[in-house]
Amino acid sequence: MSFRASVLTLYPQMFPGHLEQSLSGRALERGDWSLEAVQIRDFAHDRHSSVDDTPAGGGAGMVLKADVLAKAIDHVSPPGDNRPRLLLSPRGKPLTQAKVRSLAEGEGVVLVCGRFEGVDQRAIEGRALEEVSIGDYILSGGEPAALVLLDAVIRLLPGVMGNDQSGLSESFEDGLLEYPHYTRPQIWEDRAIPEVLLSGNHKKIDAWRRAESEKLTAERRPDLVSGKKTQL
Ligand code: SAH
Repeated sequence: MSFRASVLTLYPQMFPGHLEQSLSGRALERGDWSLEAVQIRDFAHDRHSSVDDTPAGGGAGMVLKADVLAKAIDHVSPPGDNRPRLLLSPRGKPLTQAKVRSLAEGEGVVLVCGRFEGVDQRAIEGRALEEVSIGDYILSGGEPAALVLLDAVIRLLPGVMGNDQSGLSESFEDGLLEYPHYTRPQIWEDRAIPEVLLSGNHKKIDAWRRAESEKLTAERRPDLVSGKKTQL
């Protein structure tokens, strides 16, 4: 069974977006994963097909209606569908490589893209949506976040990346940022490739890369070093 992604959105035309290109695009064509982008508005029930309404208690913006969203969720994810249901949300737990890996090991995912001020809390609770954030900034909608999450998951699916080894040495896989890369020419604008990388001594090369990784991580992401990283 291939990985099945269902996305609930007011902008289904944003999908598959960039996922149609490159590795994920070829994997989609091969059927290594599948994508359905479902229009939430199709589940609206009033004359105007409204999906949002003013916030209870007042204030700015509009709120995605619980009844409409729940109907859409029930349609793509009926009882017996064991895929996790995630709501892309700046209030969610930050997405991590560990979470991405665990999603890639599953049978798929149901992603809900918010819009406006957000989603009626009762839909989040009533349909057990797990909120996931892609970072501490505010997007205008959940669609780019869903594309980011799917991109990260799909590259880990079996057979998607030609060279499986390269998936393992990436930043975060071992809790460290990746070491710097170089390729020919040996000298470019007076800058040489570090000597050790040309030595052919793999023990030394590994040690150098490890040291560079540790230095970079300490400089740029002390939170990873101190083990305070938020894990899902
Ligand atoms: N009023 C909300 C922000 C709404 S932004 C708040 O302050 O928390 C509109 C939608 O964009 C959200 O419902 C969510 O689906 C999406 N979104 C915005 N920022 C995001 C982020 N950092 N990660 C994931 N989704 C995000």
